[in-house]
Parts: sequence; C-alpha cells; structure tokens
Amino acid sequence: MKPQIWFLTGSQHLYGPETLQQVADQSAEIQRTLAGGLTAELITKPVLTDSGAIKQTMLEANADPDVIGVIAWMHTFSPAKMWIGGLDALRKPLLHLHTQHNVSLPWESIDMDFMNLNQAAHGDREFGFIQARLGVPRKTVAGHTSDPAVQARVEGWAKAATGLQRMRTLRLARFGDNMRDVAVTEGDKVEAELRFGVSVNTYGVNDLVEVVDAVDEKTIDALIDEYRETYDIAPELLGERAESLRYGARIEAGLRRFLTDGGFGAFTTNFEDLGGLRQLPGLAVQRLMADGYGFGGEGDWKTSVLLATIKAMGAGTGRGTSFMEDYTYHFGPGEPKILGAHMLEVCPTIAAGKPKLEIHPLGIGGREDPVRLVFDATPGPGVVIGLADLGERFRFVANVIDVVTPDEPLPNLPVARAVWKPAPSLSTSAECWLTAGGPHHTVLTQAVGAEVLRDFATMAQTELLLIDGRTTTDDFADRVRWNQAYHRLARPL
Ligand code: MN
Repeated sequence: MKPQIWFLTGSQHLYGPETLQQVADQSAEIQRTLAGGLTAELITKPVLTDSGAIKQTMLEANADPDVIGVIAWMHTFSPAKMWIGGLDALRKPLLHLHTQHNVSLPWESIDMDFMNLNQAAHGDREFGFIQARLGVPRKTVAGHTSDPAVQARVEGWAKAATGLQRMRTLRLARFGDNMRDVAVTEGDKVEAELRFGVSVNTYGVNDLVEVVDAVDEKTIDALIDEYRETYDIAPELLGERAESLRYGARIEAGLRRFLTDGGFGAFTTNFEDLGGLRQLPGLAVQRLMADGYGFGGEGDWKTSVLLATIKAMGAGTGRGTSFMEDYTYHFGPGEPKILGAHMLEVCPTIAAGKPKLEIHPLGIGGREDPVRLVFDATPGPGVVIGLADLGERFRFVANVIDVVTPDEPLPNLPVARAVWKPAPSLSTSAECWLTAGGPHHTVLTQAVGAEVLRDFATMAQTELLLIDGRTTTDDFADRVRWNQAYHRLARPL
C-alpha cells in the first residue's frame, strides 16, 4: 500500500453551504497541485467545521497504519478552540501548510466576498496560535503550492514521515552484545522503544549459524550467478578460493532467511562474538544494507535503527545511504578531508561504479578471510548523522558534507570507502562533533538533505545538532548549552 498523507481543510459553519463548497473545490485544486510533487498519496478529507469531526479525523489518522502524516490548511477562519481536542489526540506527524488559493491579489475585482473566502493569512495565524499553545510538534511551510520550493519542502517532510513510520514499526535483531568496553554504542533500549517505537532484541549468534549452515547448495549457486552479473569478481574467488565466496553467499542466504522469518528490518553483528561463523559477515551485510536493512557494527543497534530509518526516507530517490565510520584524516596538501570506511560493511548503494568483489585477510575477528565489496563512494552532497544516548535523552548529531573523488587511487585499501569534505571545514566540523559527543559510527546519506533530517528529529521529538556551512565552534558550543536547558525544561515546539 502506498503511504498516505491526509489533507485537512479547516473552516467553520458561519459561511453557509455555498461558501463551504467553494472552500472544498479550491482546496481540491490546491491538493492537485501539491500531489504532483509528492511521492505519497494525498487523500482529501471533507472540510472540517466542528470539533467532533476534527477529533474523529485525527483518531482515524492515528489508527490507520497507511497514514504517515497529516497536512492542515485553514482556507477560511476556523476558530481554533475547535482544534484543541483533535490536535491533542494526534499522534502522526503534522505539517501546517500556510498557503492560499490565488497567487496574485485581484486588485481590480477584489470585494468583501473574496476577502471572506480567502482569509488563510489570518485563519492560519489562529491555527498557529493553538499549535503553539498546545506545544504540537509540527513543520510549517508557507508559500503558494505552485512554487516548486514549497512542493519540495512538503515532499521532504513526507520523506521524514516515511522514515518515522519505518522506525515506529521496526524490529531489530542483535547477534551478540555490544563490543566490550565501548561506551557510545550502548544505549537505553526501553527508552528507544518508547521514543522511537523500535523493538531491539538479542539473539545468540549460533541461532544464526544454524540457519546459515542449513542453506542448500542450489541457493548458493543462484547467489553466485547474481554476484557474477552484478560485480567485478576477483578471479581467485571463481578459482582457487571459490569456497570462500560460496561461504560468503551462504552467510547472506542464512542471514536473509533469519531476518525474513523473524520480521526484522535491522540487525547488528559483533566481531568479538562470531560463534560458529567462519567469516565476519562482509558481503552479506553490504548486500542486505543495499536492500534497505539497517546495520550497525560492533553491536551498534542505534546506528542500525537510524540506517533503516533513513533508508526508508531515501527509497525511490536513486541515491544511496550507508553505515559509515569516520576513519582517518587528510589534513593536506589541498583541502582537508575525512576518509570514512569500516572493517567491511559499507553499503554499495553509495558506490560510484561497479563494485569489486574481493577477498583479503582481516586481523580483527580471528576468522577466515572474509569476502567483501570494494568501491569508492559517489561524489556529491550528503549528510552524516549519528545517534548518541546521553543518559537522560537521545541526541542526533549531523554534518553537511560533500563526498569527493579521492585525491589519488587507493590501490592497497581493501575496503569500500568514502572521502568527504565536511562543512564548514574539517577543524570546525570535528570540534563541533566532539563538543556534541557525536558517535564515531554514523549513517552517510546522499538521498536526503539536512532539512529532511531536521523534520525527522522534530517528529521524533529528539534533539538534533546540525553542523553546516554557517556553523562556528563557539556558537555551536553555546547551542549545546542552550539545548541542554531547553530539553530539560521545554515542551515540543
Ligand atoms: Mn566500528
């Protein structure tokens, strides 16, 4: 089922049936324009003129799993006390669209009838007041719906809502616990289920091994055929080391089976706890990420949740999103850059070209050499975002970045990687990230931008600290301090 967004038009009985029909017709026109820029299906709801209907509509939106959010627009004046019960009950993301039917003011013909019909300019102010009074988390977009920028911002909000929907129904399987002694990958799974709706549970890695070992040879043959079509395979993997590739395929099939059977959309592994697995899962994790699964290394379930969520936001854009880790720096010559990678697990949706399927030794994990995809990331704009648990609340930290072509080829680096320039500069970005306590594991996305992630943080009612082209270290540190106070005192916006 295509995700739905309900369009609510506010008015009141005062105007009489004829005017209300005009309101409905003009709203329908607005919605047609808006729908053209939306991936989700826009559903028209009858014009709302009393508190009972408003509350009933909100309760229905809450209960319908296909509804990812609601858009509200006050075409005329809709006395906002009618909206209190409905807004208070609403549990789906809300976008307040502040627009009007006409683009231009009809200077010559305008009369009081026109004025009474087209009064969103103050009708929406009444609605803004009640949202502020109630502390309703929301996004406000102002402008005419024929403006591509307005459409794009509404579409961005809808993408964020799609991610939220994904997260709220997500089930995550952890294979083993977190890496020993690591702090930032820890977190409160009870709070995560309350705040984000995600269910996070641990399975013995040998539960997975059982499924992996049971995979039949035919399934493996089919996967090897698929690999041949999709990747440049190192000749040794089709020759003397073919058994290693077959085992990599076996892990993929087993992992996929385990996740499918359990209804899981995300998972973690930990190289310290591989049980009977003969390789650290590399290729398998990469290919599952490419299919939309969340993943975090070293038991990092928070990053895995975030990856599954942002992948849902980016679905259909044709651009990629991956698990990532800030690895090492290039301070110069030239512009400073970050090299991001992981032991193996970078998602091929961000690959610039056809990935190479290779096998190399891996000291970590103490198992057989793992198979993995190797590639450079596609140049272009992106965002890295991480999720930390501060004990009293969760915090997102994000950085606007520009993925670039590596200055030189990296012929001896046997893993997939991304090289990027962080905004506004490496030093400011890193200082801010460290000040915020942002994690070393992140999600790198080229599919959605900073505004979508901000919309998402608002919906999830979770702090977001964004580092972008306008950020300075001092201002950022102040923002961290102020946010600290805000999140202890305030209700949502
Ligand atoms: Mn790591």
